[in-house]
Formats: sequence, C-alpha cells, structure tokens
Amino acid sequence: MRMSKLFVRTLREAPAEAEIASHRLLIRAGYVRKLMAGVYTWLPLGFRMLRKIEAIIRKEMEATGAQEIRMPIILPAEPWKITGRWQAYGEQMFKLKDRAGRELGLGPTQEEVVTPLVAGEFTSYRDLPVNLFQVEWKYRDELRPRFGLLRAREFLMKDAYSFDRHAQGMAASYDVMVEAYRRMFDRCGLDYLVVEADPGTIGGDVNHEFMARAEVGEDLYVYCDKGDYTADVEAASLRPPDAIPQTELEPLREIATPGRPGIQDVADLLDRPPSDMLKCMLYDAGGHPVAVLIEGDREVNETKLARVLWPEPVRMFTDQDFAAHGLVKGYVGPQGLPEDVTVIADHSVRGGKNWITGANKVDNHVTGANVGRDFRADRWEDLSQVGEGDPCPRCGGTLHIGRSIVVGHTYQLGTRYSKPLKATFVDEDGTEQPYQMGCYGIGLTRIVAAAAEQFNDEGGLRWPKAIAPFDVVVVPTNMDQPAVVEAAERLYADMAGIGLDAVIDDRDATAGVKFADADLIGYPLQIVVGKRGIEAGTVDLKVRSTGSRSQVPLEDAARAIAELFASVP
Ligand SMILES: [Zn+2]
Repeated sequence: MRMSKLFVRTLREAPAEAEIASHRLLIRAGYVRKLMAGVYTWLPLGFRMLRKIEAIIRKEMEATGAQEIRMPIILPAEPWKITGRWQAYGEQMFKLKDRAGRELGLGPTQEEVVTPLVAGEFTSYRDLPVNLFQVEWKYRDELRPRFGLLRAREFLMKDAYSFDRHAQGMAASYDVMVEAYRRMFDRCGLDYLVVEADPGTIGGDVNHEFMARAEVGEDLYVYCDKGDYTADVEAASLRPPDAIPQTELEPLREIATPGRPGIQDVADLLDRPPSDMLKCMLYDAGGHPVAVLIEGDREVNETKLARVLWPEPVRMFTDQDFAAHGLVKGYVGPQGLPEDVTVIADHSVRGGKNWITGANKVDNHVTGANVGRDFRADRWEDLSQVGEGDPCPRCGGTLHIGRSIVVGHTYQLGTRYSKPLKATFVDEDGTEQPYQMGCYGIGLTRIVAAAAEQFNDEGGLRWPKAIAPFDVVVVPTNMDQPAVVEAAERLYADMAGIGLDAVIDDRDATAGVKFADADLIGYPLQIVVGKRGIEAGTVDLKVRSTGSRSQVPLEDAARAIAELFASVP
C-alpha cells in the first residue's frame, strides 16, 4: 500500500468529545470516523485491523469444531416476547415496525434466532453437541453513547451458541470455549483476566467475563489481595457474617429527628456511626412493592436485586408510589410495613443490632429496632454492593477494585431459552428434552478499543503485530533523492517476498511528518531509508512498541528485517 493513495488523513487534534486515549487516537490516526453518536465508519486501517482480529477468532473457533453461519440482524419480536427479553431489554433494543405494522428489532444477540433454528434441524440426541457461530454487527440503543467504540450503538461481535444433551455436556462445551477464548486473547496480545460475572439480561447461571485491564474501563471488578478471588463488581458476593453477635436488645423507642431524612444526618444527630442505621429502600417489582433492608453504610447493588426478583422488572419507588402505599419518603422503617410489602433483607442486617431506622412518620426515627421482634424479613439475600476493603468471600482477605473493558463474555444458559421456545430434541429413551445451551460473545470492535487503551504512548498507537493493520512501513526521508527513493521502493517490493504487509510512505512530505504519522498509526516496524544511510550502505529500523533502533546493511536488509520482525511483540 502506498501512503500517497491510502484513504487516511491523520489529524493533529482529536474532537473535543473524545475523552479517552482510544477514542482520541483512533480518530486522529484515521482508523474510524463518526457518522453519528455511537456509530462509526471503519476506514481502511481500522477495517484491516478488524479483519485480522476476525481471522484469529475464526481460526480458533473452527479449531474447536464450531461452524460458522450468518444470522439476520433484523429480527421478529415474537420469540423475544416469549423469552421475556423484548421487555427486559426495553429501550436498550432498537425497535421498529415494518409497513404492515409488524414489530421488529435489531439484534443485540441472537439466542431467539439460533435456538429455533437448531430445533428445526438437529432433532436427535445423535446430532449433538453442535456449536454455531457468526461474526456480525450488533445493535444497542445506548442512552448516552460515549468513549468512542466503548459505548457504541453499533458494534461487531462474534457470537457462538452450543447445544448439548445434558448439563455435563454443556459444561464440557463451555470449558472448550473458555480455553479457545484464552488463546484468542493471548494471540491478540491483550492484557486480560477472566472473572466470575453477572448474567445480566442474557440469564443463566455460570458465566465469565474476559476483561482487558484499562484505567478508563467502565467495568469494575474486585480482586482479593491473596489472589484467590476475582469477580465482576456486579456479581461479587460478600461473605455472610460468620457469627451473629448477640447483643442485648434495647426497647423500640421513637425519637424526633426534625428535618433529617438522610442516613448521615441522623447518624450525626445521634452521634452514632452510619453502620448503626438501617436503610429501608422501596422498589416496585412488576407492580408489587418490595422493601430492601441493608446496613446504613452499604449500598444496594441493583443488579443483584434485579437478579433476585427476575423476571419482574425492578424500579425504585416514585413519589406517587410512596403516596399510594401511605409511606413517608425519607422516614420509612421496616416495623409495621403493610403485609403486601415483601421485605428482602441483606445479610448485613442479620442479628440483633438495635437498629436506628425511620419511624414511618415525618421527622421521626426509631432506635432499638430488631429483626424478628420489631420487623420481619421475608427473604435473606446478598444484595450489597461490594467495595474496596470488603472481605474476600473465599479467604477473608481484603478485596480491591480494578477497572477494565469487557471484551468477551461466556454463559452456561442451561434451558433458559430452549424451554420457553420449546426447542427440544428426542433423547435416547425417546423422550423430548430441551437443549442445554451455552452462549459465547466476543466484541471485536471493543478489542480494538481495549488494545488502543493498552498500547499507546505520547506518540500514538503501538499495536501488537498480530492485530496491527500493516506489519511495516518503509519511510524514504528524502523524496528528491533518486537513490533514496529507489532503495526504498526496492525494500518495499522485497517485503512481500518475506511475507510482510508493507506500506511505503511515498508522500512528498517532510521526514518529520512521516515519522510522526508512522508513530501515530502504530506500524509495529519502521524502516527508514535516508540520504546519509544510503551513502553509508545502511537503513535504520525502529521497533514501535519498544522504541529500540538498529541499523542493518542495505545489502542484506530484507533478511535482517524478517529476523527482527520475528522478535517484535
Ligand atoms: Zn481471598
């Protein structure tokens, strides 16, 4: 490829809205251009990179025996309504109507397509297992698209779906995929970790996220300082208290707390720590009132709550809800809650603690509230947001928070989709059984963003060679010197012979501009052909990732370049 012809114009400045390195650099270096919020055109450099990542993923998928298909992006609503995801996705899913008024959606993932597909073809236990995958664009109507490719509304994914006879088979298929994922991310050169995760709107039980470490990442994970536990912060569990301390129960007493609806306000007034306060949060779960009890210095993890109340949609109480149930916002306590309110208590509320909580009256609280005597707990659940410094659920060590970009997610779905969609096969004993499914996603466009976050410096991008759009750039520094141009052209032609994808920067630009662009675009290896070098019979090589420079004889340059490239990360 000739730089003079390559469809790219690098930019000195990134748009003001680009807040993070990957967004800034992918725009500046000419990999993508924005069409509208969260939707990008992929220019030749970016698209070549996507294709390279795709090739790595395809090869590893095919090595496991998975077969590639291609499913439609535009989908009928009906199966989504049957699985409950039409409602669960809500406005996150792009929804439209055709001219006949039929409801359609743009696919964010394809379980509702692939499950009936397999049920229509592979109807016997003898056909199983089977794993089908595709690489296709996906859609999600993000409320606030930002961070370039990270929170985009259109993104490229590889999604795979395994179908097995029984749970052990599903687990085996799952393990094969997890290992394949490790190889894919290793080959892409990413710094990543595998963590236990929350199933979100996909559902199912066992699932893992593949997280690329990144300071700007929006996906938080916790890790134990003893190294025995990592989990997505939404999925991280807290160890229930080992022993419940038995304190002497104080009588329930009402106290005036005028104008102090907040936890901290009341704690300050009574000179008690916020952990002595009992938070009573109210939610609506599909039209049914739910009170969540949690220690005053802890936060409710609404993802965990949604999982506990699945499939009911959960939202916080509005002012109207408080009024409709005769409850006083800011002063709600669990004692004397109406019978129709389901009380779900976090494990932090166990035991007699003489809680301070709302008195269900404006400007009043109670002290000495105790579970069992003064209020009931209908269910005990782990609902607490896990944070820095919390104890590890495995060993009791200390948990810390890390930031990452999720680039892959694997799920054991079981019969979450096959049952509602009545997707069954005939088993050996003649009975109809629902398929045991797994699903496996990888975000290709997110891999590009994550790699850009992990591999950059003040000069620009410095890709691992496995995913870089080109392997080398040949930079003739003096276009007015025929000997320089001739030597550069010869080297450029030689690159194909040693199997390297090369660009020659044949633009009539200064050496400074060419060097800056080579650094910005991030070609793994730069071959610099200059006037002085030609006179001395040498060319200069620079490895972008390490910055290391060397000089090789022009004579035998191609062989030396091949050798050096083999050692480039
Ligand atoms: Zn631990």
